[in-house]
Amino acid sequence: MDTTSFTKKTLGGVAQIEPALTPPPASAEQTTFAKKPKLAPSKSKKREIPEGLWIKCPACEALVFDKELDGNLQVCPKCQQHLPIASRERIHSLVETCTFQEMDADMTSVDILKFASYKSKLERDRKATMLQDAVVTGVGKIGAHTVALGVMDFRFMGGSMGAVVGEKLTRLIERGTEGGWPVIVISTSGGARMQEGAFSLMQMAKTSAALAYHAKARLPYLSVLTNNSYGGVMASYAALGDLNLAEPGAMIGFAGPRVIKDTTHADLPPGFQTAEFLLDHGLIDAIVHRKEMKAQLIKYLDYFAAGKKHLAA
Ligand SMILES: [Zn+2]
Repeated sequence: MDTTSFTKKTLGGVAQIEPALTPPPASAEQTTFAKKPKLAPSKSKKREIPEGLWIKCPACEALVFDKELDGNLQVCPKCQQHLPIASRERIHSLVETCTFQEMDADMTSVDILKFASYKSKLERDRKATMLQDAVVTGVGKIGAHTVALGVMDFRFMGGSMGAVVGEKLTRLIERGTEGGWPVIVISTSGGARMQEGAFSLMQMAKTSAALAYHAKARLPYLSVLTNNSYGGVMASYAALGDLNLAEPGAMIGFAGPRVIKDTTHADLPPGFQTAEFLLDHGLIDAIVHRKEMKAQLIKYLDYFAAGKKHLAA
């Protein structure tokens, strides 16, 4: 790079060399600073920003204050993107205060296949989520209705369904049948849990059979699909609702879009596997915003209860 000499224009034939104390650059490109000047340590108090105070929305990239997200049920206030929500937080948003009685809270998975690193992964997620597995089940009140409610949690091994998720949901559905209550399951899952092999796949049949008995008792089952609902979960209980609802923008399917594209060698239509696309094509019945979910569920439960009374009369 050229060196720049700072000289004053010759005035009256005499060239005067200007002492270059703070020479301005000739142009931005020509500027090089060998060393960044060291700044004296600031005497003012350091402003401490606690970690995790701001969360970047993955959809619109806006920085959102975490307390604001908590108050908004983890929905971005800028673009309405529905971010993952913990199962207990969701239950709290749906059931009447102090009415939820959890079932089988201590049921835990057994590493029956001695699958590599499964035990340590279970331990890691138990510590991180304070859950024993990927679903919380129990009986509670939503509005005036007693319901059997199961809520999955994606933070626990991607919401995958192993023997515990299957067994807890089956017991929940059977409890609903015995009690004469509607069942609501809110799903988020990558599918069956590969670490439990065929034991995972058996849960698809088991939960579906329990739902068949529940339907035989003429009781409603509402399935709520949230981002993501895939694989063996979507291929069993998550798709079997008398009403299948979804949150806006949720990705729903059996295999992921990349696998389908590679298998079919066809270009997929825009919006493929989104809740909106599936509503247009008849797989789901309604898209419900998370903040309106409780009010909508009460509305649907009212319809089913009125229908039941009408049938009994
Ligand atoms: Zn956003």
